[in-house]
Amino acid sequence: MTKGSPSKRPDERPAARSDDAAEEKSAPRKRAAAAKAEASGEHVPGGEESAGKKAAGKKAASARKASPAGTTSARKAAPAKKAAAAKKTADKKAAAAKKTADKKAAAAKKTADKKAAAAKKTADKKAAAAKKTADKKTAAAKKATAPAKRAATPARKTAAAKKATAPVKKAPAPRKQLVAPKKATAAVRAAPAKTVVRPARDESRTALVRRARRINRELAEVYPYAHPELDFENPFQLVVATVLSAQTTDLRVNQTTPALFAKYPTPEDLAAANPEEVEEILRPTGFFRAKTKSVIGLSKALAEDFGGEVPGRLEDLVKLPGVGRKTAFVVLGNAFGRPGITVDTHFQRLVRRWQWTAETDPDKIEAAVGALFPKSDWTDLSHHVIWHGRRICHARKPACGACPIAPLCPAYGEGETDPEKARKLLKYEKAGLPGQRLKPPQAYVDAGGRPAPPLGAG
Ligand code: SF4
Repeated sequence: MTKGSPSKRPDERPAARSDDAAEEKSAPRKRAAAAKAEASGEHVPGGEESAGKKAAGKKAASARKASPAGTTSARKAAPAKKAAAAKKTADKKAAAAKKTADKKAAAAKKTADKKAAAAKKTADKKAAAAKKTADKKTAAAKKATAPAKRAATPARKTAAAKKATAPVKKAPAPRKQLVAPKKATAAVRAAPAKTVVRPARDESRTALVRRARRINRELAEVYPYAHPELDFENPFQLVVATVLSAQTTDLRVNQTTPALFAKYPTPEDLAAANPEEVEEILRPTGFFRAKTKSVIGLSKALAEDFGGEVPGRLEDLVKLPGVGRKTAFVVLGNAFGRPGITVDTHFQRLVRRWQWTAETDPDKIEAAVGALFPKSDWTDLSHHVIWHGRRICHARKPACGACPIAPLCPAYGEGETDPEKARKLLKYEKAGLPGQRLKPPQAYVDAGGRPAPPLGAG
């Protein structure tokens, strides 16, 4: 404010000087008036002083006049306006700057967001690609370890490939033993862990054939020594024994026929036999009168029509008294080596449990089952099925819990499923007991099978 002091402003100084001049002009008049008063004896107290004060007051007033309030306000208002304008401008600028900054910030944020999204996308892609590569590497590593194993087991590879094409399969059965198994094999093995193959309601023909043949292969493993369970030494003995086996067990027939064949060794001998004597021998087999009639009748037919020889053709065999297709197939299959299916009571029951056929007539069952297997399998198949029916898959209480083909059987559970209880239901060599034949084949003995005792031995 030193520069802008009103006392030094040039426009104010002339005004101050005019006031001083007026004071100087009025001062002689005042002094004259005071001298006059003094001469007249009037005392004028403080006359000079009062004049001085007045002069000073006037000077101050003049000075105040010389610097009017409007000028001062104007002087004061000018910087305020400028400040206000400057402030306004600054505010505007600040607002504009803020607006611009906001816009820039928004744009920057948008760009940053875009960049972040792009970066995330890229990162995700990279991660996915990395995972894919890692997976491929793992798979490749696994494959790399597999070849040696696969090379060591090519058969397993083939089996696996087959398994992939078949709907549900179990591991292929091992090959049938060509040599007589050791005695221990006669015992029933624990059912191996296999894939359970339950036939669907609408099981296709192909699936049925596969399952049926697999059951036969499994049974061949279980009964590698399977054979006809009637003792015989020639076709004549076999055809007679088969006729006698109706409504009784092979064991009972085997215990009876030694006495019969000892007394009547040929068809001619039996054809000429006294029926009452034959009846007495055959009494243990049940229905002994009818059976006596049949064996004497077929012996006469053999002696008269076939020269004392058993014919090797089905159509001839079924013409013999008491000989049906079942007996004819037993004779053809076991005495002549000609394939035949023996549809006895066990065979009928089991093939129905396995849903190989729903037929009940023996001839239709034979045709239906025969169509599932090659002819060369028919005789052994008959043995396998009948042996299984006699030892494990009984009519009343099948031993399902000890059954090696349980995973392939749709009737699993029809019998005892508890392994311990089921094992007690087993029969013959599977239970460590004697078999039905008094003179069993060597393979059966080698497998631990025991000959049956003769009649009356207990
Ligand atoms: S699972 Fe039972 S019903 Fe089926 S074959 Fe075996 S014993 Fe017979």
